Amino acid sequence: MATDTHSIFTAKTVNDILYHLKTVSNLQVIGGATYIGDLPEKALTVRNVPELKIIDKHERYTDFGPAVTLNSIAHIGKTYVPSVLYEAICQTANHSIRNMATIGGNIMAHDPRLSLVAPLIALGTTLRFKTLKNSEIIPLSKFTSIPEDSVLTSIRVPTEDWNVAIFRRLGSSRMISDNSASFCFLAMTEKNILIDLRICFSGPFIFQSQELETKYLGTRLPLSKSTIEDFLSIAEKDFDEYVRDKENAAMLKRQFLNLVASSLHELT
Ligand SMILES: Cc1cc2nc3c(=O)[nH]c(=O)nc-3n(C[C@H](O)[C@H](O)[C@H](O)COP(=O)(O)OP(=O)(O)OC[C@H]3O[C@@H](n4cnc5c(N)ncnc54)[C@H](O)[C@@H]3O)c2cc1C
Repeated sequence: MATDTHSIFTAKTVNDILYHLKTVSNLQVIGGATYIGDLPEKALTVRNVPELKIIDKHERYTDFGPAVTLNSIAHIGKTYVPSVLYEAICQTANHSIRNMATIGGNIMAHDPRLSLVAPLIALGTTLRFKTLKNSEIIPLSKFTSIPEDSVLTSIRVPTEDWNVAIFRRLGSSRMISDNSASFCFLAMTEKNILIDLRICFSGPFIFQSQELETKYLGTRLPLSKSTIEDFLSIAEKDFDEYVRDKENAAMLKRQFLNLVASSLHELT
């Protein structure tokens, strides 16, 4: 369909998308267009590609097509979606925006202030990209740009059971602004021993600390007062090193440490 200044391309299959990307210059793939606001001059919508709208549930993970809308995920319910992702989706925008907004758009916007980024990273999400000949899997935590000549075909979200799973949003509710951020804390325990821990803060930047996530594995719960103090001082040191030259560093650090402290209390 062509308008005066805009062309909107549609595709029915992943191969159609690859063909358009190869033959049309400056073509931008879009989902529900709720993030971009203004349509680009040449846009290709993936919302009519059946294979990109599939939700495929397995025992240990669920594969979401990038064109799956946030409401479709919310509708399958908390039982089948990790609780932190479910909460993040329910707190995103409003019902009518969520009917158009896609999970792929939330990720491919490359905006760490968006609400699903922290939970998806903490859960260990991976992205599958396809070219005409190959496919490549990239962990979301390492994703920087779409590999050449490829299309995002699936978003794999592990669905392990976490004993403590916390999602918190900061900043204005149900919209994205300069002060938007989210936080995710996941802890797995076995016989009162901490066996896995994931922490992700995502706002103006994404912050994770490998030291924090691994140093206390094997520790018996409840955590002692001195372990919590020690944990928080490592969190402060790592965050300080990371945000040193960033704007609003002091406020972001305060927010992060408060969230970590309250999460640790849930754990004990
Ligand atoms: C009133 C309002 C409130 C909002 N509140 C929130 C909120 O609380 N939290 C939040 O996170 N977001 C919010 N948003 C932003 C937006 O709705 C979501 O981030 C949504 O998930 C974006 O998905 P989309 O499909 O609309 O993306 P689009 O706008 O279509 O695309 C976003 C970007 O991703 C790229 N892209 C999209 N799909 C693909 C694909 N399949 N392959 C490659 N690239 C792709 C596009 O090129 C573009 O760069 C809000 C928006 C509005 C209008």
